[in-house]
This record gives sequence, structure tokens and C-alpha cells, in this order.
Amino acid sequence: MALTNKVTIVTGAARGIGLAIARRFVEDGAKVVMSDVNDEAGEAAEADLKALGEVTYVHCDVSERLDVRNLIAAAIDTYGDVDVLINNAGIVSPGDILTIDEAEFDRVLNINLKGSFLCGQAVARHMVDRVKNGGPAGAIVNMSSVNAVFGLHTQLPYTVSKGGVNQLTKAMAVALAPHGIRVNAIGPGSIMTDMLASVNDDPAARARILSRTPMARIGEPREIASIAAFLADEGASYVTGQTVYADGGRLPLNYTVDVPEE
Ligand code: NAP
Repeated sequence: MALTNKVTIVTGAARGIGLAIARRFVEDGAKVVMSDVNDEAGEAAEADLKALGEVTYVHCDVSERLDVRNLIAAAIDTYGDVDVLINNAGIVSPGDILTIDEAEFDRVLNINLKGSFLCGQAVARHMVDRVKNGGPAGAIVNMSSVNAVFGLHTQLPYTVSKGGVNQLTKAMAVALAPHGIRVNAIGPGSIMTDMLASVNDDPAARARILSRTPMARIGEPREIASIAAFLADEGASYVTGQTVYADGGRLPLNYTVDVPEE
């Protein structure tokens, strides 16, 4: 398989989309370094995935430079290299321009945007050195959102951070293209993870989401993992600087669609 033995770091991998990506890469034969701040969930996930293949868990707060440095060092110590980075860790925090406070704005930007910069820079430097020494290039995948394009005013810092992730993706892709290193992003719509948990208990919220989802369903984490696998693989060898949106048709839609009876 194409991802066999590819050393892959996944951030925010203890649950949700990151966990689905780690699972998919382990199943495809990659050597996966899962990282997260939620060590209890991360270690439980590591134990589960060990039955399927090569995986190790490392604590890493992506907004902390030293944690990021330790994460890359742990990947190299354990598996000898880094071939793929999946910058997945991210948080939401409600608030619009009138209500959000400065500390919360900084917290979201530090994790969602600066975290991708810190991990991306550390891994890109490693990959460039490797290419200069005659080794293979690698691939980086950043987790964006449809809210990089839409203005989700009730999640101001999140929206700003994901717009930044798209721009980070383009600027990294152009700088790293001469080295053969590809950088792309994924822009999910509404995916059923804990981040979206409130929707499960609130029929009105679910109907609002489905009214903006032509495919009439919420997406599954594995449907994002399969895009990460494609973008990391040689099948995407001429794709760089792109954001691939997986949103059940939300971005092409103007206004709303009728919500089917459940
Ligand atoms: P999730 O279920 O909340 O999982 C995120 C994981 O990241 C959690 O394990 C969380 O730990 C961890 N995390 C939080 N802060 C971190 C930090 N500073 N460093 C490292 N890990 C950290 O989220 P998800 O729904 O899977 O989302 C994953 C990514 O997809 C995010 O970038 C998100 O913005 C993006 N996305 C999601 C959706 C969606 O509908 N779910 C849509 C568009 C984009 P804790 O358990 O401690 O919180």
C-alpha cells in the first residue's frame, strides 16, 4: 500500500477526526505518531490501534514550541524519520466581535493557527534537510474548515484561524515546492465528532445544519481521513497549495435546502 512505512505525525489524534486519520494511516501500513493534550484518551487510542499496526502516542500541546520540538524528536527517535505531518489539532470557542475577549482570541489562534505553523515549520525544516541529503520529499496536510470561507460570526477566532490556515497552506506550499514537499489542506463541513456533539441533542440545531447540507447528512470522521490519505500519498503527487472541501455540498449552495423528515 502507498502509505506503507510512511512515518506520519497526527496532532489532536486522541479523538474525533484526528483519531480517524490515525486509524486510517495505521490500517494503510504507516508508522503513526499520535499526539494530543488529552493523554488519557490518547493512550487509550494508542492501545486500541496497536492491534492494527505501528503506532505510538506522544503528549504535545501544538501551541507550545518545546512540546512541538519534543514531538518531532520523538518521531525521529522512534521511527527514524518524518514523512507526513497532519496538522489536525483545533478548538472552537463561542463569541462574536462584541463578546469575545482578548485571552480567548489568543488561545484559539495559538492552537489552531500558530500550532500548525510551529509543527509545519519544524517538520518542513527536517524534510528540506532530508531532500538536500538525497532523501525523499514529504507531505503536510493542514486541517482547515468551510469556515475559512464563510463568516461564522458566532465563532470569530475560529473563523479567523481557519482563514489563516488556508493562507498558511498556500505560502508553505509555494516555499516548499522547489524541494518537492507538498502542502495541502482539508476543509470539512459538519463532521460528527465531540466538537459537534451539541447537535445530537438539539433537533433544531441539527435541522439548521441539514438545511445547509445538500447531501442531507452529517459527515463521518473516516470521510475526512480518506482525503488525508489521498493528499499524503503519491496519487496526489502534482497537488499542492489546495484546500479540498468535504462538506456534503455546502459551499456551492446559496440559501437553504429542504430538510427531509427523520
Ligand atoms: P475534537 O473531537 O474536539 O478533537 C480535537 C482533539 O484535539 C481533542 O483530543 C483535543 O483534546 C485536542 N486538542 C485540543 N487542544 C490541543 C492542543 N493545544 N494541542 C494538541 N491537541 C489539542 O475535534 P474534531 O471535530 O475532531 O476536529 C479536528 C479538526 O478538524 C480541528 O482542527 C477542527 O477545527 C477541524 N474541523 C472539524 C469539523 C467538525 O465538524 N468536527 C469541521 C471543520 C473542521 P481535548 O480532548 O483535551 O479537547
